Amino acid sequence: MEMAEDASENIVIVGGGICGLATALALHRKGIKSLVLERSESLRASGAAIIVHSNGWRALDQLGVASYLRQLTVPILSGQFHSLDDDKLQKLPVGKDELRCVKRIDLMTILADNLPQNSVRFGCNVLSVELDSTTSTPVLQLEDGTSLNAKVVIGCDGVNSTISHMMGVMPRNIFNICVVRGFTSYSSGHDFDSSFKMTKKNNVQVGLMPITTNLVYWFITGKYISQKFKISQQSHKVIRDITAGSVKDFPSSIKEMVENCSLESLHFSEYLRYQAPWDIVRRRFRDGTVTVAGDAMHAMTPFIAQGGSASLEDGVVLARCLAQKTSAGNLSGRVSKKMVEEALDEYLKERKPRVLRLSLQSYLFGKMHDTSSKFIKFICIVFLTLIFYDSHGHTRYDCGSL
Ligand SMILES: Cc1cc2nc3c(=O)[nH]c(=O)nc-3n(C[C@H](O)[C@H](O)[C@H](O)COP(=O)(O)OP(=O)(O)OC[C@H]3O[C@@H](n4cnc5c(N)ncnc54)[C@H](O)[C@@H]3O)c2cc1C
Repeated sequence: MEMAEDASENIVIVGGGICGLATALALHRKGIKSLVLERSESLRASGAAIIVHSNGWRALDQLGVASYLRQLTVPILSGQFHSLDDDKLQKLPVGKDELRCVKRIDLMTILADNLPQNSVRFGCNVLSVELDSTTSTPVLQLEDGTSLNAKVVIGCDGVNSTISHMMGVMPRNIFNICVVRGFTSYSSGHDFDSSFKMTKKNNVQVGLMPITTNLVYWFITGKYISQKFKISQQSHKVIRDITAGSVKDFPSSIKEMVENCSLESLHFSEYLRYQAPWDIVRRRFRDGTVTVAGDAMHAMTPFIAQGGSASLEDGVVLARCLAQKTSAGNLSGRVSKKMVEEALDEYLKERKPRVLRLSLQSYLFGKMHDTSSKFIKFICIVFLTLIFYDSHGHTRYDCGSL
């Protein structure tokens, strides 16, 4: 096997998405160096934007990037749900805690910009990670034929994670719900105020949230699109036209928003993949000094808009645990494997109950949308009411200081 010249690192983070970059920055803030390996050639910010609740803002505050992102976004102060089926208007419970929508590229750029130079290696696809049979040191095999030894490997490689696969974890579960996301820009300002709006007709739901006074993020969920043809294989223009067709009976403000969207911002998710809540309970998520974070650990449906914020929290908690057990910055010194393992266990002990609740809540929402059985819908509502009677309680969570 060919060995790269620089074939040894302390902490390697696989995946430079929201979680990988946040984890690298959290470690950097604690004086701990890491290397992020990202298979894309540049920051991969597909999915247009991300809704960030107050728990996510707390994590961003810890990472030291919240004030910058606040300048790029407007706060969302109210919410409204409009069912066109029976023309009912309902208030959505937002406004008490901080809620904003951030362009993914803005979030990822500021996380990356705060890292030391050369912290992220682009175009670097990790094929596998194995523990050396004698030393138990993680060895990463890269697509370019080289290998890399690391003291610690953190898999932040998303929903199809190679690292969690190594631990026997795969989010194979899907809901047959598809989502189209995009932006629409309004040169003379939009009329949506600072309000999160959801509009529903039959099986189609349109959600929209302003990012600034000129830019609106929107998402459309339904089962309608994949029944027609494989939309993911179509051009952005065709995706826009199909999506516009699916909202033809919606108010003109929504139809125009879709028709005038930025084509490059469009992103289509054919299925919603998730890690089942019972898998989060069962799995260990650590093998030696290898662990996972973000979607690699807890892919969840987007109905409570928490996957990204939970990934930011993961980064903060993981860095804190590693720093506490290994005395910050000293990972290059004589830190034993046992100390690292203890730190990773602390991290998982703190994160598992948190992500279990998020995953269960988003699973019940997903199931409610996915099923056509009135009985299962009813059961989901009962569980949601009993377990999550405070439906926004999860947004008040505080992942603590770095
Ligand atoms: C439709 C939809 C809407 C959503 N809306 C919200 C929302 O409003 N708010 C919210 O908080 N969350 C939302 N989420 C969830 C959120 O997008 C994810 O939880 C978040 O992006 C997870 O970040 P991550 O870094 O763990 O994974 P990813 O963003 O998937 O990043 C993984 C990275 O790893 C890289 N990678 C993968 N494999 C390898 C490899 N072998 N080697 C090297 N690199 C690799 C990938 O290229 C990628 O850059 C939504 C999700 C969906 C599907």
